[in-house]
Amino acid sequence: MGRADSSHYIALSEQRRMRGRPPVILEHAAMTQCELCHAQGEVVLWQNENCRVISVVDNDYPGFCRVVWQQHVKEMTDLKTDEQQKIMYVVFAVEQAIREVMQPDKINLASLGNVTPHLHWHVIPRYTDDRHFPNSVWGKPQRKLARLAFAERTPADWQTRLSMRIQQILN
Ligand SMILES: [Zn+2]
Repeated sequence: MGRADSSHYIALSEQRRMRGRPPVILEHAAMTQCELCHAQGEVVLWQNENCRVISVVDNDYPGFCRVVWQQHVKEMTDLKTDEQQKIMYVVFAVEQAIREVMQPDKINLASLGNVTPHLHWHVIPRYTDDRHFPNSVWGKPQRKLARLAFAERTPADWQTRLSMRIQQILN
C-alpha cells in the first residue's frame, strides 16, 4: 500500500471514529438488523450448512427462488474460491429445476443486495407475457398479469416439485 493510500485509509478511519461508529460496530449493526440473518416465515425448499434456497412469495412470479448464503457476507469476493463455486453450483441447480418445472421463456439471475447487503442470488422464471417483461421484475410494469394463462401453465404443486428436483440435483 502506498503512502497516499495508507493516509487515505487513516483519514477514513478517523472519520469513522469521529462519528463514533468504527467499522466493526457498523458491521455488527448490519447483522443485527439484517432480514436474511433474522429471517422469519421463509419457505425453505432446500438447505445445507452453506446456503439455503427459499421460495419467494410473489403472486406475479410463482417459481421465483432466492439462494441465500447462510453467513452474513456482502459480496461474492468475500467468499473463498471453493465457497464461490458452492453457491454458484446451487444457483445453477435451482435454475435447472425452475426450467424443468416452470418451463419459462427465460431465466433471470440477479445479485443486487443494495437494500439487504447479505449475499443472495435471485433466480426468476420469466415469460414474455409476465407483468414486467422485457424489463426486470423490479422495473416498470408493462401489462396486467394474464392470470388465466399463468394459472394454466403453473403446476399447482410447483413448490413441492421444485423442492424435490433441487434435492435430486444436489444430493
Ligand atoms: Zn445478514
